[in-house]
Amino acid sequence: MLRFAPSPTGDMHTGNLRVAVFNYILAKQRNAQLLLRIEDTDTARNIEGKDKDIMFLLNLFGITWDNLVYQSNNFKHHRQLAEYLIQKGNAFYCYCTKEFLDQKRELAKANHQAFRYDDAWAELEKDKNPHPVVRLKAPKEQVGFHDEIKGNITFTPNEIDSFIILKEDGIPTYNFACAVDDMLYDIDFIVRGEDHVSNTPKQMLIHKYLNYEKSIKFAHLPIILNGEGKKMSKRDNASSVQWLLDSGFLPQAIVNYLILLGNKTPCEVFTLRDAFAWFDITKVAKAPARFDLDKLKFLNREHFKAMREQDLSVLLGYKDSAIGALAKLYLQEASTLNEIREKVDYIFAKKTLLLEQLDKNTESQNSTEALEILEFQDAIKTLQNTLLSLLKEQDFSKADFNTFKSEAMQKSGLKGKNFFKALRFLLTGHTHGPELSDLFPILRLYLNDVIRN
Ligand code: GLU
Repeated sequence: MLRFAPSPTGDMHTGNLRVAVFNYILAKQRNAQLLLRIEDTDTARNIEGKDKDIMFLLNLFGITWDNLVYQSNNFKHHRQLAEYLIQKGNAFYCYCTKEFLDQKRELAKANHQAFRYDDAWAELEKDKNPHPVVRLKAPKEQVGFHDEIKGNITFTPNEIDSFIILKEDGIPTYNFACAVDDMLYDIDFIVRGEDHVSNTPKQMLIHKYLNYEKSIKFAHLPIILNGEGKKMSKRDNASSVQWLLDSGFLPQAIVNYLILLGNKTPCEVFTLRDAFAWFDITKVAKAPARFDLDKLKFLNREHFKAMREQDLSVLLGYKDSAIGALAKLYLQEASTLNEIREKVDYIFAKKTLLLEQLDKNTESQNSTEALEILEFQDAIKTLQNTLLSLLKEQDFSKADFNTFKSEAMQKSGLKGKNFFKALRFLLTGHTHGPELSDLFPILRLYLNDVIRN
């Protein structure tokens, strides 16, 4: 069984989603189950409702799971096993107060030494402290494992001191709850972020002391860097899955990008399902991968192209599939759903309202530019009146663009640049964009809605 083990302590990070995607693909490839484990051991940092947000997002990205477990439901097992380890002599109560440990830390710092817990301190403050923690005994030998991405990794005994497995309130620490639950749910392949590499020997040690001998595969995913090559942090917008969605990136494009990122894949544009056939975690690069928003935009456009026109219409809030087709014509210049929606909404916006916006612009322009805008506005008004009366007389729903254009030009008396700019504005709400002759075969079906006041 594989597992995705998010903590309900904040919004889902892009890196977490990548971990979820990889686990999901591997589960499908291996015909194995996927466990969703909500790691709610950090009771002070848990945020109510984040578990549901995570599940909602996973579903949105097409990720489903076979089992769901909240780690807090297993606290009794964690405590029992900690008790067992104490009895076996692999774990012990530590009565050190925070003040005592802080003092030792200061001392190590002053001596330019790394702080290391000394087992001899365990009972020094036994009388003072009624709430001891439980620590697991530090290993005496080196601990190592093979990582599917990073190769062999070993830790010497002095890199791991006796670490806490039960906190003073009896709640297990992340490492202990994680190792025990991986055992209880028979996890045989752990895929997670590289920030957990140093936790792996601790979790292996817990398994060893519990006489659990199953061999578990590990893959730790390299971190994601931002555009500047620094570790992507909360301050980087793209680190937030919700931000990507709010910006109008499609879930299928985001998933595509996260699989492609720092990976060798047979092609660039694919679906989550496609990846089942060829995904190979050992091909993921060891080096950190840099998040490239332009690449994601490219993939977003590709997934829009592949989308059924009817589905795109619905996403944009329209009924007719023709609107989806119209939207696709904008993919040269628009990459996100928001950008495309703006284009389509402008086509159907009241042009008089858009003109008012142009009015506001005149105030900030120099006099020649302001004059040009005024001239442009006049042309628009003239052409709008012409077109509205033309539409009363004639049906253009099957006309070709040249016929429509010639009639409009003739009746309005406008010419050249002035005419074309005004026509484009009335048909699209913008002064630049795709060829009108490409847009017209669709726009002609909606001329009354488009050229409205
Ligand atoms: N709760 C941990 C995290 O969100 C998961 C670590 C693990 O997968 O073992 O980073």
